[in-house]
Formats: sequence, structure tokens, C-alpha cells
Amino acid sequence: MPAPRWARRPAVAILELALRPQLNVAFSACFMFVTIGIGTTTFREQKLDVHRALQASQPAWNVANVRFRVACAPFRKTSSTTRSRRAGTAALHARLNLTERIPVAVLGATGSVGQRFVQLLEGHPWFEVVALGASSRSAGHKYGEQVSWKQATPIPADMADIEISECDPNEAAYRDVRIVFSGLDNQIAGEIETRFAQAGKAVFSNAKNHRMDPDVPILIPPVNASHIEAVRTQAVYRQSGGFIVTNANCSTTAMTIGLAPIWKSPELGIETIVVSTMQAISGAGYPGLSGMDILDNVVPYIGAEEGKMETESLKIYGEYQPTRGFVPAEINVSAMCNRVHVLDGHTEAVSIKVRNRGNRSKEELAQMVIRAIQEYPSTSRDVFGLPSGPERDVVYNQAPDRPQPRLDRNLGRGFTVTVGRVRPCNVLDVKLALCGHNTIVGAAGGSILNAELAVVKKLIASVGVGATEHGAAVRR
Ligand code: NAP
Repeated sequence: MPAPRWARRPAVAILELALRPQLNVAFSACFMFVTIGIGTTTFREQKLDVHRALQASQPAWNVANVRFRVACAPFRKTSSTTRSRRAGTAALHARLNLTERIPVAVLGATGSVGQRFVQLLEGHPWFEVVALGASSRSAGHKYGEQVSWKQATPIPADMADIEISECDPNEAAYRDVRIVFSGLDNQIAGEIETRFAQAGKAVFSNAKNHRMDPDVPILIPPVNASHIEAVRTQAVYRQSGGFIVTNANCSTTAMTIGLAPIWKSPELGIETIVVSTMQAISGAGYPGLSGMDILDNVVPYIGAEEGKMETESLKIYGEYQPTRGFVPAEINVSAMCNRVHVLDGHTEAVSIKVRNRGNRSKEELAQMVIRAIQEYPSTSRDVFGLPSGPERDVVYNQAPDRPQPRLDRNLGRGFTVTVGRVRPCNVLDVKLALCGHNTIVGAAGGSILNAELAVVKKLIASVGVGATEHGAAVRR
């Protein structure tokens, strides 16, 4: 007969504790000292032997520890936070009437951002990729055979066999598609995205073309979720049910998320931002810069990037008023953009002048900035229940040498922006470093969050289920 539940928990806890890596080290050390005993080696050599033996045994202990924790998972008590989050997501699904996944397409699916879409949409709870689009060079080929896949996970099996289509909404492959994720090149994205919106599709774009349109939001759910309301004023939405939502340029996204806790704090606010970026190679698309240009090098020029950071951030931090449209924020932004020899993850060195600094010292302001970041709510997940939302949208890392792209870009599955090195600035008020993943939160992941928010806001209905406020005009 199995042990009663109340007796199993303490037993599991004790066993788990016994397998903790730190305790493993202590146990292993005692064991090694006893077994080595009094040998011919000196005490110093014995210590070295023990150290090497511990290092060798550590990965095995860790593997055993992880395996044991996985095996224990069914018996472990679920925390009340996890329970309420699960209940919240289930309730959200029921409220949205999402009994089927929504058919979606990825345009520019062979590119750097497009591949991220394909990777992140594998097994998505709400969205199912049914069509992939690219240029006429790629159209007609199976995705798995045509794409030069650069992601660290395999091409999703159910997408590898999809035949790539031209980016034309009249193609049969897009008939049932409700959501179009666009990773299209700026040169051609604008017109193609307009045509898909006119055909009744909800378009989530990464290109710059529509970002500054007066009725198109640059949407970043952890920062300006209310801007999604602008979609309802788009003429195309009234005509066909389709609409366009953009996300920001990747360096702007990392910066506006990282600084959002300061911008939104009534005690702080921001008057001036001076930012220098160190941007990853993948930000230039694939194949991007040649090795001869970027190896052993820093390139202090990224075409039009500085202008985008200086204008897009004002729209993002600005207010959306249904009667007046977007009212830009009053901040001075000066950006200097550099391409560096890093594969993924943009790092940015930022100095800010605080708007409401009063007579506080710069040291006090720096401490307030840290607190504001630590207390910033996780909007995408906890407020809106977006399935791709990370545990925390922005985190503060107190280590003196963080954030670093290689170590921090994948935090929160690439959706979390890390801020560190918050300290007084001799010229402005406070300076800091931040880092975000350019193709996840800064591009494809950001667009997926936007689409999830649009579903929550009932702007998109799936085929045969759910309903938008737009109702009958939505093509089913
Ligand atoms: P990319 O790697 O060069 O990919 C471009 C994609 O566009 C490819 O799939 C390509 O298909 C397709 N394409 C090119 N010409 C086309 C045409 N005439 N008709 C249809 N499809 C065409 O670029 P990327 O880095 O992924 O960037 C895509 C967009 O996202 C850009 O607007 C960029 O500014 C923006 N963005 C990029 C990042 C980033 O970190 N990379 C971040 C934020 C925003 P073929 O393979 O068939 O040529």
C-alpha cells in the first residue's frame, strides 16, 4: 500500500535536500578525505586531489539531482502562485472560447526574424502555423529544404513540410489564416502588410514601414498595452476586420522595457536619455555582415538605427488618446548605435536625467531606480495572462559585471530584459546597463506577445470559435 500523502512530502523533502549540490560537495569532501587517508602524498596534494575529484563528480551529482527532482514533481506541493496562475490561464482560455488554435502565417519565414517566429510558435497553445511566406526565390519549395536554418533547436517537424508561398494574400495557403506574423525585409514589407490587412488578416509586423503611421501602435505589452486600442480606429479594421500592429526596432524595445519602471514611477520619470548600443550581428538579418567586416571589430554605424531609437521611443512612451491619437512623450533621446561581435542580444549603456529628482542625491536616485525595477509588475503574464509572457518583464541583476549578452539574453526564454550597474552619473543623474534578446523580445517574440494581447482584447477570432467585436465582417 502506498504511503499516505502527508507522509510522502517530508520524505521527498528530506531526500531532495540530501541531493542538493552544496550538500553533495560537503558529503563528497568528507568521503574523499576518509578514503584517501594517510597516503604518500602531502596534505596540499591531497587537497588538490579532492578538489579535482569533486569537480569530476559534480556534473554527475547535478544530473542525478535534476532527475530526482523531476521524478518527485508529481508528489511536490504546488505553490499557491503557480496554482492561481494555472487557474487564471485556464479561465482565460475558457473566457476567450479558444477551443481550437488560431491558424497563423509567417511572412519572411526564411529570414533571421522569420526563423525565430517558426521556432517560438512550435507548440504554441493558441496559434498554429499553417502557411509560410517568403520571396519568389523560395516559393514552391518545402520549408525544411529551402531555409538555411540557424536556430539551436531543430526545424519543427510539422512546419518543415509546409510549401513556401509567395507573400500574396490571394494565395490559397492564406485562406483560413487570421494572424500574419511579418519578418519581411523593410524594402518590401510596407505594401505587402497593407494588402494582408485589407484581406482581413491581423498583421503583426517587425518592419519599420508602418511604425510611425498615425493609427498604428508600436506595441510593447509590458510598456504600453493600452496603445492597442488605436487598432479600432484603423480604416482597414472597419472595412475588413484586418489591422496592423508593429513592434519597435530591437534596440528600442530593450531600452523602453528596461527603462519602463523609471519612466512610469511617479517619483522618478525621465527627462533625458543618452544611450550607446552594442548590437548583435543577428540584428542585421541573415546572412548579414561578412566575417571580414565584423570579426575582431566594432562598427560604429547601423543605418537609420539612431533615428529610430530617438523617435520610436517617444511614441511608445507617449499617450494614446482616442480623440487625439498618439501624443509623443516629452523626452530628449540621444542614441549612438554600434554593431559588435556578438551573435544575439543587444547591450546598451544608458545615462538618464530624472524628471522629478527634487533635491535627492544621485545616490538616492540610483537606489530608487533599483527599487522601481525590482517592484515592476510582470504585465504580460500576470496582468494579461499572455502565454508567452515571462515570469518577469524586467529584472535587476546586482552583480558588478552584468548584464552580459551571452549570460543574460535567454532569461525568461528571451522575453526578459536585464538591467544592471545602476549607479550615479556625474553628468546626468543615473547610469546603467541593460540587455535584451534582439530576435526574441526585440522582434519575433515581441510580435507574438502583441498577437496574444490582441486575442485577449477580442480583436481576433479563430476559425469557427470565439468572436470579435467586429463580428460578421470577419472572414471565417
Ligand atoms: P532577413 O534575415 O534578411 O530576412 C528577410 C526575409 O524577407 C526573408 O525571409 C526573405 O525571403 C524575405 N524577402 C525578401 N525579399 C522579399 C520579397 N521581395 N518578397 C517576399 N519576401 C521577401 O531579415 P531579418 O533580420 O529577419 O529582418 C526582417 C525584418 O525585421 C526587417 O524589416 C528588420 O528591420 C526587422 N527587425 C529585425 C530584427 C533583428 O534582430 N534581426 C529585430 C527587429 C526588427 P527569401 O529568403 O526568400 O529571400
